[in-house]
Amino acid sequence: MKLQKLTLQGYKTFATKTDFEFDDGITAIVGPNGSGKSNIADALRWVLGEQSYSTLRAKRSADMIFAGSEQRARAGLATATITLDNEDGWLPIDYSEVEITRRAFRSGENEYLLNGQQVRLKDVAELLATSGLAERTYTIVGQGLIDQALSLRSDERRALFEEAAGINHYKHRRAETLRRLEETQRNLQRVHDILAELRPRVTSLKRQATRTQNYEQIFEDLHALLRVWYGYRWEQTKTELRQAHLAADQAEASWQESRRQVMAIQEKIDKLQAHIAETQGQLTEQQNAREQVREALEKARRDQAIMNQRQDLLQRQQTELAQDLPQLQEQQTAAQSELAAATADLDIAQTQLADAQSSWTAFRTAADGQQAEINRRRKELRQAEQDRQEHQRKLAQAEGQLAQLRERLDETTERLNSPVHWKRISPCLISKRGNWKKH
Ligand code: ATP
Repeated sequence: MKLQKLTLQGYKTFATKTDFEFDDGITAIVGPNGSGKSNIADALRWVLGEQSYSTLRAKRSADMIFAGSEQRARAGLATATITLDNEDGWLPIDYSEVEITRRAFRSGENEYLLNGQQVRLKDVAELLATSGLAERTYTIVGQGLIDQALSLRSDERRALFEEAAGINHYKHRRAETLRRLEETQRNLQRVHDILAELRPRVTSLKRQATRTQNYEQIFEDLHALLRVWYGYRWEQTKTELRQAHLAADQAEASWQESRRQVMAIQEKIDKLQAHIAETQGQLTEQQNAREQVREALEKARRDQAIMNQRQDLLQRQQTELAQDLPQLQEQQTAAQSELAAATADLDIAQTQLADAQSSWTAFRTAADGQQAEINRRRKELRQAEQDRQEHQRKLAQAEGQLAQLRERLDETTERLNSPVHWKRISPCLISKRGNWKKH
């Protein structure tokens, strides 16, 4: 057995991941008091499945986890892994290197891994039991154990040596074997009891056995006979089956023929149905036409009835008119005389009308001439009006000028009346109307 490596992370004083590699020879760990040397030995015990926390110098599982320091916060998980060399197969597992890991969470939960696979504590214990590395062995000797061993009584010391020598495992196995042996003896005793119970019933059991043998013989005979019978039935059934197949083939051929005929008939039926549908269409058209003719006939009958009624009415009216005819003829004669007189009056009136029309035409012509004259005069009048307005405008303009001249005349007259002025403008004369005249 060889311990190759121990890896701690978050375990007690080892907050960060720390690897301890154990080479050949003796490995000694030195350090000041309280630096954590014993914690390494505790970690080895712990990873091997130690359940007694007092042995690990603690009270509970959470004490295994780094509790924090001034520089570093506490860890949530403690992990310890040991790597064991198994080249020589001292552990009953097919690995040349075995890694056992134990983890503890703050919840108090612990879990175990064997070469990375999660396993139960029991699996770890069973694996180590055969090797003498079990949790309660003295592979790891803690502080004070030597003193304790020396102070033990001789029988207590024997137990300690036995445990350290690894014979506890064999003791357990011996105890287990003894327990199983006792159990087997108990089972043997029970078998003897059952035999004692069965012995008086042997004769009847023998009879039953003979009957059973007879039954088995008969059963075998029956089996053989049944086999012969079923063989015979099998052959017979095969013949019947062949005949049935032949009959089925004939029926199939007949069915095919019938099917062909049915299909031919079906084809004819389809054609006939198409013809019927066509005829049906024609019939519907004819029925529609007949309906139209019937309706026309009905209408003609109604019209005829109306015409008959009208004819009756007209005949009645004719009869009445025939009765009124003499009176009407008299009226006609009178009307004719009146007509002749009216015609004469009309002729006169027409002559008068022609005269009146010619007078009207003459009057019209004269009126048109007068209207043209009126239009011409109106035009002249408009022109005269325009001329008048022009003259009026010019007159107003002349009056304006005249007013100006009068003002100037008044001014000049005023100046002329002045003696000083008169001397200077002696060559000027003033007209009677006030206009200046230059000589
Ligand atoms: P000595 O030479 O006196 O035996 P040691 O080097 O063996 O000392 P350990 O007994 O292994 O030291 O370590 C004890 C130290 O471990 C103590 O300082 C204790 O505070 C610390 N310790 C124990 N448990 C934890 C924990 N869960 N978290 C942090 N520190 C812990």
